Amino acid sequence: MSEQDSDTERNARHKRAMQRKKAHVDQRIAQATIDKGLLVVLTGNGKGKSSSAFGMLARSVGHGMRCGVVQFIKGQWECGEQLLFNDHPLVEFHVMNTGFTWETQDREKDIAAAEATWHQAEKLLADPDCQVVLLDELTYMLTYGYLDSDRVCQALESRPADQHVIITGRNASDRLTGLADTVSEVRDIKHAFNSGIRVQKGIDY
Ligand code: ATP
Ligand code: MG
Repeated sequence: MSEQDSDTERNARHKRAMQRKKAHVDQRIAQATIDKGLLVVLTGNGKGKSSSAFGMLARSVGHGMRCGVVQFIKGQWECGEQLLFNDHPLVEFHVMNTGFTWETQDREKDIAAAEATWHQAEKLLADPDCQVVLLDELTYMLTYGYLDSDRVCQALESRPADQHVIITGRNASDRLTGLADTVSEVRDIKHAFNSGIRVQKGIDY
């Protein structure tokens, strides 16, 4: 068989395969007819949870949607997402006013701060005008037992039916992933920090 013939045959095979694939994709798209507020959980030990969540926030704001953000752990560095969205007219932004729990080293103070911050989240989760709620690093509040899991799940379950919620943080519980519509686990393959590279503006914060 000449080189040209084999190319023609390969192209024809590719076309048939793509036609089958398109028929399959079109059928699946036609079957997805439901609109609802999603609960998206981004967990795992790799880098990319909060940045993905803020990517969805940027998309939503781009569409003119009203959004709320609650950050449950305040980092050492002022993060770019906060600088960008803090004063944005479509975004209500709350940050827990303590640092990392290994820096405060005061459990009672952390619990009080977690509860006060959760109260802001509850208000957003009860607001039908708020279309997207981002609860960044919420999972740690549950892992440390700072927040009651029943209280958190109850607020998530009784939120407006068309409100989207995005939750980030490592070790999301089975209960939380069970409630979610979409769950992604970011796996740590390699991180620059482990080669002694310090956090980089724009990429890490
Ligand atoms: P990002 O905000 O960059 O998307 P993240 O939300 O997935 O990260 P967090 O656990 O919230 O991850 O950590 C936030 C900070 O820790 C970021 O500066 C990030 O680069 C860094 N980090 C994330 N994963 C790792 C890791 N596996 N090893 C070391 N540092 C990490
Ligand atoms: Mg994060």
